[in-house]
Amino acid sequence: MERSEPGISRPATLFTNVAVFDGDGPGSYPGEVLVEGNRIAAVARDDERIAANGAAIVDGGGATLMPGLVEAHAHLGFGSSVDRVLRGPRTPEQMLLVTAHTAKVMLDYGFTGAYSAGSHSAAAEVALRDDIAAGWLPGPRLRACSFEREAGSVMEGTRKYVSYDRRQPDIDGVRAFVRDMAAAGVDSVKLVLTGDNSIVPGTSLTGLYHDAEIRAAGEAARDAGVWLNVHAHSAEAIKMALRHGVRVIYHCTWPDEEALDLLEAYTDEIFVAPTVGLNWTNIHADPNYAKRDNGAALKEQIGKFDHLRRLLPVLRKRGIRLLPGGDYGFPTNPIGRNAHDIELFVTEFGFRPAEALTAATKLGGEIMGMADELGRIKSGYLADLLLVDGDPLRDVALLQDSNRLLMIMKDGKYHKTPQPRRRLDAHAA
Ligand SMILES: [Zn+2]
Repeated sequence: MERSEPGISRPATLFTNVAVFDGDGPGSYPGEVLVEGNRIAAVARDDERIAANGAAIVDGGGATLMPGLVEAHAHLGFGSSVDRVLRGPRTPEQMLLVTAHTAKVMLDYGFTGAYSAGSHSAAAEVALRDDIAAGWLPGPRLRACSFEREAGSVMEGTRKYVSYDRRQPDIDGVRAFVRDMAAAGVDSVKLVLTGDNSIVPGTSLTGLYHDAEIRAAGEAARDAGVWLNVHAHSAEAIKMALRHGVRVIYHCTWPDEEALDLLEAYTDEIFVAPTVGLNWTNIHADPNYAKRDNGAALKEQIGKFDHLRRLLPVLRKRGIRLLPGGDYGFPTNPIGRNAHDIELFVTEFGFRPAEALTAATKLGGEIMGMADELGRIKSGYLADLLLVDGDPLRDVALLQDSNRLLMIMKDGKYHKTPQPRRRLDAHAA
């Protein structure tokens, strides 16, 4: 049993009779977990017991206690959540409210952490992050991001995808963007290095930035103390990102051998979120998608998904930190469904369930920049915990059913108080 200093005066909760998945093991073990204040104070396994010492006792009835989930590619501002689908243009004021709402929905669905991959307004996301952290609004711990800068245009939503060789480098503009966003208080800055077929057909391999611009962005980010995230499909864009200190690569679809070697050389520095959920949704859950471009768009999405089926096991073997999550928030893949990415890691990409859960918890703590205190059930770690009705190590899909989340705790406080387990036979499907 590991135990940190006993804090008798702080509110304490002892979870007993739980199967502990600690975020980093091949499986779970029967155990007990003591939370004091906002941190995990002790973990006992097998026959060990923790003295309650006045702590409130929650008998988990054999349910699974695991770290809260982290979404690695969050867009709170995409707007649609499972309980509220949004279409059409919105004012900035509506966007702010929508974003606060989707943050709450993410937490309702077990995501206690969210690494933003682009906001509609840096100032709004920074304000939301700080209000959540201060306890004024419900939501996941948030790493706030700039809006997504496309080269040649910094206007959100223009989606022109001007190829870099059709314009002069704008090094000062890129530097100023990074500096301005850092001054607004973001944790990370997002650059869109390539187009995207699913938005403008035929553009995924179109490079949008000059190498010198990304070098300048890397320098400016290091100077300002912010992280760089990129949207990158092509091998060239992936290599450019790696050369210049980008921390998070989204999509990472078409690396060549040289890019794969470079990715492997940077395994300790970088994270890759391949963003498979939206791709899957376009193929399987959006009847309108099939009609686009007389079926060409759907065909392209199917080809890409098949390619990812071959690529992701290769990236995994090379030790690249692959994280589930991505682009949830459209009407067809609303926020609240984020845990579907975890299932896809298992069913489509060859991950063992424990490994996929580790990617969503332990690696989640790492992408949040909190490796030594978030994403695991370990003495001294922050108490972001889920109590799950059933065994997600046998079926990771259970995490998508909010009724299965019997308890959600963030920073030692209940977002959802412990609910009784349902009779097992009541949900045998
Ligand atoms: Zn995105």
